[in-house]
Amino acid sequence: MMLIHGGRIASAGVWNGEARDLVIAEGRIRDIVEPGSVTGDVERISAAGMLIIPGLVNAHTHAHGNVAKGIADRWALETFLSWGRWTMGHDTEHSQVAALIGAAEMLRRGCTAAYDMFGEYPLPSPEGIEAVADAYQSIGMRAVIAPLLADRSIHQAMPGLIESMPDGVRDAVASIAYVGWERSLAACRETARGWRRPADRLKFALGPTIAFHCSDSFLTGLRDLARENGLGISMHIAESKPDVIASLEHYGRSSVAHLEALGLLGPHFVAAHSVWIDDADADLFAKHGVTVAHNPAANMKLGSGLADMRQFLDRGITVGIGTDGSRSSDNQNMLEAMRLAAFTSRVIGRPPSDWISAPEAFAAATIGSAAALGWAGEIGRIAKGYQADLVFLTLAESSYLPLNDAIAQVVFCEDGTGVDTVMVNGQILLRGGRFTQFRPETLARRVEAAMDAMWRRNADVKASAQRLEPHVAAYARELTQRVHHINRFAGRRTAVDGPL
Ligand SMILES: [Zn+2]
Repeated sequence: MMLIHGGRIASAGVWNGEARDLVIAEGRIRDIVEPGSVTGDVERISAAGMLIIPGLVNAHTHAHGNVAKGIADRWALETFLSWGRWTMGHDTEHSQVAALIGAAEMLRRGCTAAYDMFGEYPLPSPEGIEAVADAYQSIGMRAVIAPLLADRSIHQAMPGLIESMPDGVRDAVASIAYVGWERSLAACRETARGWRRPADRLKFALGPTIAFHCSDSFLTGLRDLARENGLGISMHIAESKPDVIASLEHYGRSSVAHLEALGLLGPHFVAAHSVWIDDADADLFAKHGVTVAHNPAANMKLGSGLADMRQFLDRGITVGIGTDGSRSSDNQNMLEAMRLAAFTSRVIGRPPSDWISAPEAFAAATIGSAAALGWAGEIGRIAKGYQADLVFLTLAESSYLPLNDAIAQVVFCEDGTGVDTVMVNGQILLRGGRFTQFRPETLARRVEAAMDAMWRRNADVKASAQRLEPHVAAYARELTQRVHHINRFAGRRTAVDGPL
């Protein structure tokens, strides 16, 4: 048994800076007691001068993006996807190194669990998935690991994109060889069957990236695999305006309506981004118990627009918060993601009573994201019986001087500077801002070697992506300027305002 004493605690809906001691046993919170009320011979961890919050939970990230931070400045989503293979994992060392960078960054900033849709090209491998799981295990975080899946490239998927390219460029598209969906499905089935990780620490899930980048045969195969094995599914849904317009052209209905018809939606389904979701789609989310993973930083960085978190909360839809991958946003700081979730809700023309409050943003980044990972009732709260996944923040930092409202100051002021101690499952992984078991200094050498190998191997991918870029960008821009019945650009400009 362990006693965490002398601290203050904050947990959505219940605690907001009250002084309490925590009794931890077998990795869980056994009791929450008045300060000093436990005496006798127990292991004591001091939290004097600290605010203890539940570990933040990242509802959406991509391990492979961690090696690509800073390389994509003025790319809209479609250009970003067109360049996708350039920095994607091609071997297990690359995948593991990328995952370690992100896991260490998340933990250092108070995040203790993540939903990771990591990518390998040309198809996911059981070894790559296990290498990412090993990375999270060595840092000590919990994770849901869902390989990114598609059986056609963005160029093949977006109606009319290839036809819009000049003759001399189309051959660059032909060089992008996606393997048949049967092989990807087989790799996922093999991984699901061989999965031996403790289910409360590391779970396997499925990540078909974007609906129309996958054939219906692939999607229904994944649906069945998920049902047979109790797996979660996460997808990028209505992330950009070109994405929803292309979906409508491809299916003759929204991707959400199409996924419903295929039987993919359900409480196990996490809809990442969900920026360009109209009321009919939101109603389908509510009807099927879908959880939304809101990624405000990436939505702004890629110019996708601003998701309307209130649209989901009003319907009783659970919303979690994610950073998205570091290629698009470009960090893994859940504190920043939470702050942006609150801020972006205020610039879309809704009245102040609809703005996402600090407690709502905090609840989404803890309880909401925990539900997205399938760990509702296990993590995301400081409550009896919950896992002891805890973050101690230093109250002597300027963010808390003076301490007026603990949760509001975590959301609006904390940037990670105050993170002192991080615990997962009752085990201290960071103390005094330093990792207790992970050695960051050895990571830098591995990163350097993995990157050398990647740039050499992907030189031709770069040349091909450079040729495609202006054509993809022009095509996406044309779709962006079309009239659509909802608008998610800042300020809620509509067709009446004229083309953007
Ligand atoms: Zn994503």
